[in-house]
Amino acid sequence: MENSREISLKRAARLKAAMDDYVAFRKAHIDEEAKKDVAGMKRRIMEYFNATEDDWRDWKWQVSNRISSADVIGEFLNLSPEEKKGITDVEKTYRWACTPYYLSLMSKSDHSYPINRMAIPSIMEMDDYGVADPMDEEHTNPAPCITRRYPDRLIINVTSACAMFCRHCQRRRLIGECDSTRSREDILAAIQYIRENEEIRDVLVTGGDPLLLDDSYIEFVLKELRTIEHVQILRIGTRVPVTMPQRITPQLCEMLKKYHPLYINLQFNHPDEVTAEAKAACTALADAGIALGNQMVFLKGINNDKFIVRLLNERLLMARVKPYYIFHPKQVIGTRHFSIRISEGLEIMRYLRGQTSGLAIPTYILNAPFGLGKIPLLPEYIIENSSEGVKLRTWEGGEIEINED
Ligand code: SF4
Repeated sequence: MENSREISLKRAARLKAAMDDYVAFRKAHIDEEAKKDVAGMKRRIMEYFNATEDDWRDWKWQVSNRISSADVIGEFLNLSPEEKKGITDVEKTYRWACTPYYLSLMSKSDHSYPINRMAIPSIMEMDDYGVADPMDEEHTNPAPCITRRYPDRLIINVTSACAMFCRHCQRRRLIGECDSTRSREDILAAIQYIRENEEIRDVLVTGGDPLLLDDSYIEFVLKELRTIEHVQILRIGTRVPVTMPQRITPQLCEMLKKYHPLYINLQFNHPDEVTAEAKAACTALADAGIALGNQMVFLKGINNDKFIVRLLNERLLMARVKPYYIFHPKQVIGTRHFSIRISEGLEIMRYLRGQTSGLAIPTYILNAPFGLGKIPLLPEYIIENSSEGVKLRTWEGGEIEINED
Protein backbone atom coordinates (compact mmCIF):
# COMPACT_ATOMS: atom_id res chain seq x y z
CA MET A 1 0.00 0.00 0.00
CA GLU A 2 1.27 3.50 -0.92
CA ASN A 3 2.15 5.83 1.94
CA SER A 4 0.99 9.46 1.96
CA ARG A 5 4.36 10.77 0.68
CA GLU A 6 4.24 8.41 -2.30
CA ILE A 7 0.67 9.48 -3.08
CA SER A 8 1.72 13.16 -2.80
CA LEU A 9 4.71 12.65 -5.08
CA LYS A 10 2.54 10.99 -7.73
CA ARG A 11 0.04 13.83 -7.61
CA ALA A 12 2.83 16.44 -7.75
CA ALA A 13 4.29 14.67 -10.82
CA ARG A 14 0.86 14.72 -12.50
CA LEU A 15 0.48 18.46 -11.75
CA LYS A 16 3.98 19.16 -13.05
CA ALA A 17 3.23 17.30 -16.28
CA ALA A 18 0.07 19.40 -16.69
CA MET A 19 2.36 22.43 -17.12
CA ASP A 20 4.53 20.90 -19.87
CA ASP A 21 2.66 22.28 -22.87
CA TYR A 22 2.42 25.78 -21.41
CA VAL A 23 6.08 25.84 -20.35
CA ALA A 24 7.11 24.80 -23.88
CA PHE A 25 4.83 27.47 -25.37
CA ARG A 26 6.19 30.17 -23.03
CA LYS A 27 9.78 29.29 -23.87
CA ALA A 28 9.07 29.33 -27.62
CA HIS A 29 7.26 32.65 -27.26
CA ILE A 30 10.17 34.24 -25.36
CA ASP A 31 12.62 32.91 -27.99
CA GLU A 32 10.50 34.49 -30.76
CA GLU A 33 10.32 37.79 -28.89
CA ALA A 34 14.10 37.84 -28.53
CA LYS A 35 14.40 37.74 -32.33
CA LYS A 36 12.48 41.01 -32.64
CA ASP A 37 14.73 43.98 -33.29
CA VAL A 38 12.84 46.56 -31.21
CA ALA A 39 16.00 48.58 -30.55
CA GLY A 40 16.82 48.66 -34.29
CA MET A 41 13.28 49.76 -35.18
CA LYS A 42 13.40 52.47 -32.51
CA ARG A 43 16.75 53.72 -33.88
CA ARG A 44 15.36 53.93 -37.41
CA ILE A 45 12.26 55.81 -36.24
CA MET A 46 14.38 58.26 -34.24
CA GLU A 47 16.65 58.84 -37.25
CA TYR A 48 13.65 59.45 -39.48
CA PHE A 49 12.25 62.08 -37.09
CA ASN A 50 15.68 63.40 -36.18
CA ALA A 51 14.77 62.75 -32.55
CA THR A 52 16.86 62.50 -29.40
CA GLU A 53 16.37 60.10 -26.47
CA ASP A 54 14.84 63.03 -24.57
CA ASP A 55 12.33 63.49 -27.41
CA TRP A 56 11.47 59.79 -27.31
CA ARG A 57 10.80 59.95 -23.56
CA ASP A 58 8.60 63.04 -23.96
CA TRP A 59 4.93 62.04 -24.35
CA LYS A 60 4.10 65.27 -26.17
CA TRP A 61 6.77 64.44 -28.73
CA GLN A 62 5.20 60.97 -29.07
CA VAL A 63 1.75 62.49 -29.67
CA SER A 64 2.90 65.13 -32.13
CA ASN A 65 4.86 62.59 -34.16
CA ARG A 66 2.14 59.97 -34.42
CA ILE A 67 2.25 58.06 -37.68
CA SER A 68 -0.95 58.28 -39.70
CA SER A 69 -0.01 57.86 -43.33
CA ALA A 70 0.61 54.75 -45.41
CA ASP A 71 3.69 56.34 -46.95
CA VAL A 72 5.31 57.09 -43.60
CA ILE A 73 4.56 53.70 -42.08
CA GLY A 74 5.82 52.17 -45.33
CA GLU A 75 9.24 53.64 -44.46
CA PHE A 76 9.44 51.17 -41.57
CA LEU A 77 7.34 48.17 -42.56
CA ASN A 78 7.44 46.09 -45.73
CA LEU A 79 3.93 46.76 -47.01
CA SER A 80 2.66 45.32 -50.26
CA PRO A 81 0.88 47.70 -52.72
CA GLU A 82 -2.43 46.00 -51.68
CA GLU A 83 -1.73 46.59 -47.99
CA LYS A 84 -0.89 50.25 -48.66
CA LYS A 85 -4.06 50.65 -50.72
CA GLY A 86 -6.03 48.99 -47.90
CA ILE A 87 -4.75 51.64 -45.50
CA THR A 88 -5.57 54.55 -47.82
CA ASP A 89 -9.05 53.11 -48.52
CA VAL A 90 -9.85 52.63 -44.83
CA GLU A 91 -8.54 56.02 -43.71
CA LYS A 92 -11.23 57.73 -45.83
CA THR A 93 -13.76 56.30 -43.36
CA TYR A 94 -11.85 55.62 -40.15
CA ARG A 95 -9.08 57.70 -38.67
CA TRP A 96 -5.88 55.92 -37.69
CA ALA A 97 -2.64 56.83 -35.91
CA CYS A 98 -0.03 55.12 -33.77
CA THR A 99 2.77 56.44 -31.63
CA PRO A 100 6.42 56.02 -32.64
CA TYR A 101 6.76 53.90 -29.47
CA TYR A 102 4.01 51.46 -30.51
CA LEU A 103 5.43 51.31 -34.04
CA SER A 104 8.80 50.26 -32.56
CA LEU A 105 7.12 47.08 -31.23
CA MET A 106 5.79 45.99 -34.64
CA SER A 107 7.01 43.29 -36.96
CA LYS A 108 8.66 44.65 -40.10
CA SER A 109 7.22 42.04 -42.42
CA ASP A 110 4.63 39.93 -40.60
CA HIS A 111 1.45 41.99 -40.66
CA SER A 112 -0.52 39.24 -38.95
CA TYR A 113 1.57 39.97 -35.84
CA PRO A 114 -0.89 41.13 -33.14
CA ILE A 115 0.88 44.44 -32.45
CA ASN A 116 0.66 45.35 -36.16
CA ARG A 117 -2.97 44.26 -36.40
CA MET A 118 -4.11 46.38 -33.44
CA ALA A 119 -2.59 49.52 -34.99
CA ILE A 120 -2.62 49.32 -38.80
CA PRO A 121 -5.88 49.60 -40.75
CA SER A 122 -7.02 46.57 -42.70
CA ILE A 123 -9.41 46.51 -45.63
CA MET A 124 -11.55 44.13 -43.54
CA GLU A 125 -12.70 47.21 -41.59
CA MET A 126 -14.83 48.13 -44.60
CA ASP A 127 -17.18 45.20 -43.84
CA ASP A 128 -20.36 46.99 -42.80
CA TYR A 129 -21.70 44.29 -40.44
CA GLY A 130 -22.51 45.55 -36.93
CA VAL A 131 -23.65 48.81 -35.41
CA ALA A 132 -21.89 52.03 -34.44
CA ASP A 133 -23.19 52.21 -30.86
CA PRO A 134 -24.04 48.69 -29.62
CA MET A 135 -24.20 49.89 -26.00
CA ASP A 136 -26.73 52.58 -26.89
CA GLU A 137 -24.57 55.13 -25.08
CA GLU A 138 -26.41 57.91 -26.87
CA HIS A 139 -29.55 56.98 -24.89
CA THR A 140 -27.93 56.60 -21.47
CA ASN A 141 -26.70 60.18 -21.37
CA PRO A 142 -28.68 62.17 -18.77
CA ALA A 143 -26.23 65.12 -18.67
CA PRO A 144 -23.33 66.38 -20.82
CA CYS A 145 -20.40 63.91 -20.95
CA ILE A 146 -22.24 61.36 -18.77
CA THR A 147 -23.15 57.74 -19.48
CA ARG A 148 -25.27 56.14 -16.77
CA ARG A 149 -26.15 52.44 -16.88
CA TYR A 150 -26.11 51.43 -13.22
CA PRO A 151 -27.70 52.67 -9.98
CA ASP A 152 -24.58 53.79 -8.09
CA ARG A 153 -21.94 54.60 -10.70
CA LEU A 154 -21.47 56.37 -13.99
CA ILE A 155 -18.98 57.44 -16.63
CA ILE A 156 -17.71 60.92 -17.48
CA ASN A 157 -16.41 61.04 -21.01
CA VAL A 158 -13.90 63.90 -21.15
CA THR A 159 -12.18 63.66 -24.54
CA SER A 160 -12.15 61.86 -27.87
CA ALA A 161 -8.35 61.98 -28.01
CA CYS A 162 -6.29 58.77 -27.81
CA ALA A 163 -2.58 58.09 -28.19
CA MET A 164 -3.38 55.45 -30.80
CA PHE A 165 -6.61 54.71 -32.64
CA CYS A 166 -6.88 50.99 -32.02
CA ARG A 167 -8.33 49.05 -34.94
CA HIS A 168 -10.56 47.04 -32.62
CA CYS A 169 -11.88 50.12 -30.79
CA GLN A 170 -15.42 49.57 -29.52
CA ARG A 171 -16.00 53.33 -29.34
CA ARG A 172 -14.70 54.13 -32.81
CA ARG A 173 -17.74 56.27 -33.55
CA LEU A 174 -16.39 58.85 -31.05
CA ILE A 175 -13.03 59.14 -32.76
CA GLY A 176 -13.84 61.92 -35.17
CA GLU A 177 -11.69 63.81 -37.59
CA CYS A 178 -9.89 65.65 -34.83
CA ASP A 179 -9.19 65.32 -31.11
CA SER A 180 -11.87 67.13 -29.15
CA THR A 181 -11.95 67.70 -25.42
CA ARG A 182 -15.11 68.55 -23.55
CA SER A 183 -15.36 72.16 -22.43
CA ARG A 184 -14.96 73.04 -18.76
CA GLU A 185 -18.63 74.13 -18.84
CA ASP A 186 -19.72 70.65 -19.94
CA ILE A 187 -17.54 69.05 -17.25
CA LEU A 188 -19.02 71.37 -14.63
CA ALA A 189 -22.54 70.45 -15.81
CA ALA A 190 -21.63 66.76 -15.45
CA ILE A 191 -20.19 67.40 -11.98
CA GLN A 192 -23.38 69.23 -11.03
CA TYR A 193 -25.44 66.21 -12.14
CA ILE A 194 -23.32 63.96 -9.90
CA ARG A 195 -23.60 66.45 -7.02
CA GLU A 196 -27.39 66.35 -7.29
CA ASN A 197 -27.57 62.53 -7.36
CA GLU A 198 -26.24 61.35 -4.06
CA GLU A 199 -26.55 57.64 -4.85
CA ILE A 200 -23.53 58.03 -7.22
CA ARG A 201 -20.66 56.48 -5.31
CA ASP A 202 -18.21 55.64 -8.06
CA VAL A 203 -17.19 57.73 -11.12
CA LEU A 204 -15.19 56.45 -14.08
CA VAL A 205 -13.36 59.16 -16.03
CA THR A 206 -12.87 57.94 -19.58
CA GLY A 207 -12.83 58.93 -23.27
CA GLY A 208 -11.11 58.42 -25.68
CA ASP A 209 -8.26 58.47 -23.25
CA PRO A 210 -8.30 61.00 -20.39
CA LEU A 211 -4.54 60.70 -19.90
CA LEU A 212 -4.09 62.42 -23.27
CA LEU A 213 -5.08 65.61 -21.49
CA ASP A 214 -2.65 67.84 -19.63
CA ASP A 215 -2.11 67.23 -15.93
CA SER A 216 -3.86 70.52 -15.10
CA TYR A 217 -7.05 69.49 -16.94
CA ILE A 218 -7.10 66.02 -15.36
CA GLU A 219 -6.56 67.61 -11.97
CA PHE A 220 -9.43 70.03 -12.60
CA VAL A 221 -11.78 67.07 -13.16
CA LEU A 222 -10.53 65.02 -10.20
CA LYS A 223 -10.49 67.97 -7.83
CA GLU A 224 -14.07 68.91 -8.70
CA LEU A 225 -15.19 65.31 -8.19
CA ARG A 226 -13.45 65.19 -4.82
CA THR A 227 -15.56 68.12 -3.62
CA ILE A 228 -18.60 65.78 -3.73
CA GLU A 229 -18.91 63.97 -0.45
CA HIS A 230 -20.92 60.99 -1.71
CA VAL A 231 -18.39 60.13 -4.44
CA GLN A 232 -16.24 57.48 -2.79
CA ILE A 233 -14.30 55.95 -5.66
CA LEU A 234 -12.64 57.58 -8.66
CA ARG A 235 -11.54 55.53 -11.62
CA ILE A 236 -9.70 56.36 -14.84
CA GLY A 237 -9.87 54.23 -17.98
CA THR A 238 -6.71 54.53 -20.10
CA ARG A 239 -4.59 52.64 -22.60
CA VAL A 240 -1.56 54.98 -22.49
CA PRO A 241 0.64 52.67 -20.37
CA VAL A 242 0.28 50.27 -23.34
CA THR A 243 0.48 52.60 -26.33
CA MET A 244 2.52 55.51 -24.91
CA PRO A 245 4.02 54.66 -21.50
CA GLN A 246 6.03 57.92 -21.63
CA ARG A 247 2.82 59.63 -20.48
CA ILE A 248 3.22 58.22 -16.96
CA THR A 249 5.52 60.90 -15.63
CA PRO A 250 6.54 61.45 -11.98
CA GLN A 251 4.53 64.72 -12.07
CA LEU A 252 1.39 62.90 -13.21
CA CYS A 253 1.80 60.27 -10.46
CA GLU A 254 2.36 62.97 -7.81
CA MET A 255 -0.82 64.71 -8.91
CA LEU A 256 -2.95 61.54 -9.14
CA LYS A 257 -2.04 60.32 -5.68
CA LYS A 258 -3.77 63.34 -4.13
CA TYR A 259 -7.15 61.92 -5.19
CA HIS A 260 -7.29 58.49 -3.57
CA PRO A 261 -9.02 56.09 -3.53
CA LEU A 262 -8.18 56.06 -7.22
CA TYR A 263 -8.28 53.01 -9.48
CA ILE A 264 -6.96 52.84 -13.04
CA ASN A 265 -8.29 50.39 -15.59
CA LEU A 266 -5.94 49.52 -18.44
CA GLN A 267 -6.30 47.57 -21.66
CA PHE A 268 -3.41 45.24 -22.41
CA ASN A 269 -4.51 42.69 -25.01
CA HIS A 270 -1.34 40.75 -25.73
CA PRO A 271 1.72 39.68 -23.68
CA ASP A 272 4.10 41.47 -26.09
CA GLU A 273 2.53 44.76 -25.01
CA VAL A 274 3.94 44.21 -21.52
CA THR A 275 7.33 45.72 -22.39
CA ALA A 276 9.94 47.07 -19.96
CA GLU A 277 8.59 50.61 -20.60
CA ALA A 278 4.99 49.55 -20.01
CA LYS A 279 6.01 47.74 -16.82
CA ALA A 280 7.87 50.83 -15.58
CA ALA A 281 4.75 52.94 -16.22
CA CYS A 282 2.55 50.50 -14.30
CA THR A 283 5.06 50.29 -11.47
CA ALA A 284 5.15 54.09 -11.16
CA LEU A 285 1.35 54.19 -10.92
CA ALA A 286 1.32 51.33 -8.40
CA ASP A 287 4.01 53.07 -6.34
CA ALA A 288 1.68 56.09 -6.23
CA GLY A 289 -0.78 53.79 -4.47
CA ILE A 290 -3.09 53.38 -7.47
CA ALA A 291 -4.79 49.99 -7.85
CA LEU A 292 -4.42 48.81 -11.44
CA GLY A 293 -6.82 46.45 -13.22
CA ASN A 294 -6.64 45.17 -16.77
CA GLN A 295 -9.65 44.97 -19.08
CA MET A 296 -8.61 42.80 -22.00
CA VAL A 297 -10.88 42.43 -25.02
CA PHE A 298 -11.05 39.03 -26.69
CA LEU A 299 -9.85 39.62 -30.25
CA LYS A 300 -9.55 37.03 -32.98
CA GLY A 301 -5.95 36.60 -34.14
CA ILE A 302 -4.68 38.62 -31.16
CA ASN A 303 -5.52 36.73 -28.00
CA ASN A 304 -8.13 34.03 -28.70
CA ASP A 305 -5.62 31.50 -27.44
CA LYS A 306 -5.50 30.00 -23.95
CA PHE A 307 -1.72 30.22 -23.62
CA ILE A 308 -1.57 33.83 -24.86
CA VAL A 309 -4.21 34.88 -22.31
CA ARG A 310 -2.42 33.00 -19.53
CA LEU A 311 0.96 34.51 -20.44
CA LEU A 312 -0.55 38.00 -20.65
CA ASN A 313 -2.20 37.68 -17.24
CA GLU A 314 0.89 36.25 -15.57
CA ARG A 315 3.02 39.08 -17.02
CA LEU A 316 0.48 41.67 -15.88
CA LEU A 317 0.67 40.40 -12.31
CA MET A 318 4.45 40.88 -12.47
CA ALA A 319 3.76 44.48 -13.54
CA ARG A 320 1.42 44.83 -10.51
CA VAL A 321 -1.72 44.88 -12.65
CA LYS A 322 -4.62 42.61 -11.66
CA PRO A 323 -6.41 41.02 -14.64
CA TYR A 324 -9.89 42.32 -13.89
CA TYR A 325 -12.19 41.76 -16.87
CA ILE A 326 -12.06 40.07 -20.23
CA PHE A 327 -14.67 41.63 -22.47
CA HIS A 328 -16.40 39.71 -25.19
CA PRO A 329 -16.08 41.87 -28.34
CA LYS A 330 -19.16 43.87 -29.20
CA GLN A 331 -20.64 43.86 -32.67
CA VAL A 332 -19.18 47.22 -33.62
CA ILE A 333 -19.16 48.12 -37.28
CA GLY A 334 -15.70 47.73 -38.82
CA THR A 335 -14.45 45.20 -36.25
CA ARG A 336 -16.10 41.98 -37.39
CA HIS A 337 -12.74 40.42 -38.29
CA PHE A 338 -11.79 40.55 -34.59
CA SER A 339 -14.92 38.82 -33.30
CA ILE A 340 -14.93 35.41 -31.63
CA ARG A 341 -17.69 33.10 -30.44
CA ILE A 342 -18.74 33.00 -26.79
CA SER A 343 -18.05 29.24 -26.71
CA GLU A 344 -14.43 29.93 -27.66
CA GLY A 345 -14.07 32.49 -24.86
CA LEU A 346 -15.61 30.07 -22.36
CA GLU A 347 -13.18 27.34 -23.37
CA ILE A 348 -10.27 29.67 -22.59
CA MET A 349 -11.79 30.57 -19.21
CA ARG A 350 -12.27 26.88 -18.43
CA TYR A 351 -8.60 26.25 -19.19
CA LEU A 352 -7.38 29.10 -16.93
CA ARG A 353 -9.19 27.90 -13.80
CA GLY A 354 -6.84 25.65 -11.86
CA GLN A 355 -4.00 25.94 -14.37
CA THR A 356 -3.06 29.39 -13.07
CA SER A 357 -3.77 31.17 -9.81
CA GLY A 358 -7.08 32.92 -9.19
CA LEU A 359 -5.19 36.23 -9.24
CA ALA A 360 -4.52 35.67 -12.94
CA ILE A 361 -8.17 34.90 -13.76
CA PRO A 362 -10.38 37.86 -14.67
CA THR A 363 -14.15 37.76 -15.07
CA TYR A 364 -15.35 37.16 -18.63
CA ILE A 365 -18.02 39.76 -19.41
CA LEU A 366 -20.54 40.32 -22.17
CA ASN A 367 -21.81 43.88 -22.34
CA ALA A 368 -25.48 43.41 -23.16
CA PRO A 369 -26.77 45.33 -26.18
CA PHE A 370 -28.82 48.52 -25.64
CA GLY A 371 -26.88 49.47 -22.49
CA LEU A 372 -28.45 46.66 -20.45
CA GLY A 373 -25.25 46.13 -18.49
CA LYS A 374 -22.59 43.52 -17.89
CA ILE A 375 -23.34 39.79 -17.93
CA PRO A 376 -20.67 37.48 -16.48
CA LEU A 377 -20.00 34.45 -18.67
CA LEU A 378 -18.94 31.40 -16.68
CA PRO A 379 -17.96 27.91 -17.69
CA GLU A 380 -20.42 25.36 -16.31
CA TYR A 381 -19.33 24.01 -12.91
CA ILE A 382 -22.77 23.03 -11.59
CA ILE A 383 -23.86 19.75 -13.16
CA GLU A 384 -27.00 19.19 -11.04
CA ASN A 385 -28.68 21.24 -8.35
CA SER A 386 -31.50 19.63 -6.34
CA SER A 387 -33.06 19.77 -2.87
CA GLU A 388 -30.65 16.98 -1.77
CA GLY A 389 -27.50 18.70 -2.90
CA VAL A 390 -25.33 19.88 -5.75
CA LYS A 391 -23.19 17.95 -8.21
CA LEU A 392 -20.16 20.00 -9.28
CA ARG A 393 -17.31 19.76 -11.77
CA THR A 394 -13.73 20.25 -10.54
CA TRP A 395 -11.11 22.16 -12.53
CA GLU A 396 -9.58 18.84 -13.63
CA GLY A 397 -12.92 17.62 -15.02
CA GLY A 398 -13.81 15.34 -12.09
CA GLU A 399 -17.23 15.33 -10.45
CA ILE A 400 -18.08 15.78 -6.77
CA GLU A 401 -21.33 15.86 -4.82
CA ILE A 402 -22.10 18.21 -1.94
CA ASN A 403 -24.88 16.86 0.26
CA GLU A 404 -27.24 19.63 1.40
CA ASP A 405 -30.02 17.53 2.96
S1 SF4 B 1 -7.28 53.75 -26.56
FE1 SF4 B 1 -9.31 52.91 -26.12
S2 SF4 B 1 -10.80 54.45 -26.81
FE2 SF4 B 1 -8.80 54.93 -27.75
S3 SF4 B 1 -8.85 53.90 -29.72
FE3 SF4 B 1 -7.85 52.50 -28.31
S4 SF4 B 1 -9.53 51.21 -27.56
FE4 SF4 B 1 -10.48 53.03 -28.49
